Amino acid sequence: RAKSAGGNRYERADPEADARAITRHGLTTALPAALDRGEFFIEYQPLVHLGDGTVHGAEALVRWCHPQHGVLGPDRFIPLAEHTGLIVPLGRWVLDEAVRQARFWKHRHADGGPLRINVNLSPTQLHHPGLVGDITDVLDRSGLAPGALCLEVTESALIGADEDLLKPLRQLAEMGVDIALDDFGTGYSNLANLRRLPVSVLKLDRSFTRGMQQHPADPVDMKIVEGIVSLAHSLELAVTVEGVETAAQAEQLRALGCDTAQGWYYARPGAPDRIHSLVLADAV
Ligand code: C2E
Ligand code: MG
Ligand code: MG
Ligand code: MG
Repeated sequence: RAKSAGGNRYERADPEADARAITRHGLTTALPAALDRGEFFIEYQPLVHLGDGTVHGAEALVRWCHPQHGVLGPDRFIPLAEHTGLIVPLGRWVLDEAVRQARFWKHRHADGGPLRINVNLSPTQLHHPGLVGDITDVLDRSGLAPGALCLEVTESALIGADEDLLKPLRQLAEMGVDIALDDFGTGYSNLANLRRLPVSVLKLDRSFTRGMQQHPADPVDMKIVEGIVSLAHSLELAVTVEGVETAAQAEQLRALGCDTAQGWYYARPGAPDRIHSLVLADAV
């Protein structure tokens, strides 16, 4: 219920909504200083091979340790950073930090196989003209091979994408960087469109994984996953599944041909040391 109080001012009779708006405003204005003060940090969540359970890589997930509100998840501030454009320097920081971490893991596990790092990119970053240059710089400075980096872009960010938007992704793919289509299955993209996109990985959204939690698994979800996996593999795309919380889900998704998985069943997002010890555990 909004009532005009003259001019373009509105009075609202919803104190909770007002409180949320005030918090949002406060968080938005605090973002730039938070970046300068180093209040952001990254948690890493392992991606494992469904075949043998070994660690394939890790996804970098940003958090904000806010002096008053405590640790805030990305859903609380990424949309605000997107809106103000702060996502560009923040995203650059995440990329730099995550790539350096991955380089460090490689160094610690010279024979530790291909430990890869996944970093999320938001739509504003995709539209930013400095994207390819920033990523090239970060890789050059760290010495990480482009093939060890995977950029996650949501399916919805690429729906209806024109050549201008795809060009930087194509350049990155040509450099050897992997591009993953995140939250796949939640948008309504034309499956035939996949051929046009420079992606090499599909990340199936958690909503599909949820259907595998029931006993017996939801037969419709199973058919859908089976169909997506077969289409993806025929296009030479790998399939990762998100949100695996139980052994039964993992087994079902493995049987359906998914390649890698991520979820609380394996590990929650955590400090970088955790990835290190998981890789060491594989090695013994
Ligand atoms: P996403 O990329 O789809 O990341 C997966 C989300 O699922 C993460 O939430 C993760 O903590 C959560 N998750 C993982 N396993 C499970 C599970 O088994 N069960 C359940 N219920 N959840 C699970 P988180 O960390 O809150 O991140 C939310 C979203 O914020 C991410 O979704 C991503 O889109 C965005 N995000 C995170 N870090 C960044 C970043 O550095 N840059 C940008 N642009 N976006 C980011
Ligand atoms: Mg992601
Ligand atoms: Mg995802
Ligand atoms: Mg998701």
